[in-house]
Amino acid sequence: MPGPGYAFMDEHERDKVLEVLDYWREHRYDFDNPGSTSMVLRFENAAAERFDVPYCVPVNSGTSALLAALAGLGIGPGDEVIVPGYMFVASIGAIVHSGATPVLAEIDESLTLDPVDVRARVTERTRAIMAVHMLGAPSNLAALQEVADEYGLALIEDNAQATGGTYRGALLGTIGTVGTFSLNHFKVVTGMDGGFVLTSQERLFQRAHSFHDQGWFPHRQEVGEGDLMFGLNLRMSELNAAVALAQLEKLDSVLARTRAVKTRLLEGIPEQKGMRRRLLHDGDGECGTLAVFIFDSAESAASVGESFGCKTLIDSPKHYYGGLPALAALGRGERGPTPFRVPQESDLCQSYGKGALPKTDDILSRSIALSTGVSDSYLGAGNGVGPFSKEADIDRIAKEFTSVVAKVLG
Ligand SMILES: *Cc1c(COP(=O)(O)O)cnc(C)c1O
Repeated sequence: MPGPGYAFMDEHERDKVLEVLDYWREHRYDFDNPGSTSMVLRFENAAAERFDVPYCVPVNSGTSALLAALAGLGIGPGDEVIVPGYMFVASIGAIVHSGATPVLAEIDESLTLDPVDVRARVTERTRAIMAVHMLGAPSNLAALQEVADEYGLALIEDNAQATGGTYRGALLGTIGTVGTFSLNHFKVVTGMDGGFVLTSQERLFQRAHSFHDQGWFPHRQEVGEGDLMFGLNLRMSELNAAVALAQLEKLDSVLARTRAVKTRLLEGIPEQKGMRRRLLHDGDGECGTLAVFIFDSAESAASVGESFGCKTLIDSPKHYYGGLPALAALGRGERGPTPFRVPQESDLCQSYGKGALPKTDDILSRSIALSTGVSDSYLGAGNGVGPFSKEADIDRIAKEFTSVVAKVLG
């Protein structure tokens, strides 16, 4: 079971897919019938309404959402974007493909950006801070917003892993300048791939929209108002939109399940000397998809993890900067990491190899994550429990975990 939304798939998704097959439209543009409502347009409107923002751009992946957001902000060569050393490779990959330079910053025990370190890495080239809400929980957005405001930077929320999560009552992905979401099958809800961009800024929306569809804006039938731009084709398909729309309607029930399961699991796992839970910037707002434990030593984390099929978080190759050989190569000035671009001088000043972020290395090597909704071996998350686990099973796993911890730490 990858993400919790997947476990909620039923005839709702099927019915909406069949609707698409019945009207057999290729994508949102129906030239013969411009007034009609395609599934992508329905998703676009439903997401804007659900998240209470004026603008949504549905796209074909979370990675595309990041690319469109960066294009929307006009970020490119010569610009720097600060990004945490614990993220998903797409967070950095999108920055690299935009032509900008990723600048790595440390995380803290929330496993998200450390605002103090972010501030120290701001230069005159910095254009944006990319906060990645890892493992379902919010970054320290108040402190990051303060840095962004002080230096006039955009705040991008890569919210691929925390759809529906909140921070101080506001929905994640709607707090910064722009928010990006993924609907791949590991995420809170899924379109069986897909993603979307949210923003309240009209110009950003126009540019992101143009970028996702060959420069067209606002819609193919009404060309004209936007910036001149080469776009790509990053459009969401009608079939994915059908699944995504059905899943969006279930977001609240999915989160209610993951949160209830996680609460029950944690009730049975008291903190012990030598092991604590990760820091949460908003415990009520997190998605409850994973339970993270931080140990005093890397050895304890590894041996507890082993009993539950967890790797320490530093062993999750696509989420840890030190596990990205293409990033290290970029820092060495090698041409290989992107087919489209010669590394710039600013890249060469960066050291991206393992060891560049000692605090991040230390925290990740002492952390493990038990699944309470998302199980993903790349994330290192072992099989704890799932959204439909029985209470007796949740309690049993909690008990087993607690006794393994006691044995290891004892
Ligand atoms: C999954 C993910 C993405 C990319 O989403 P895709 O839909 O797989 O392209 C980006 N950032 C983070 C943090 C993710 O977890």
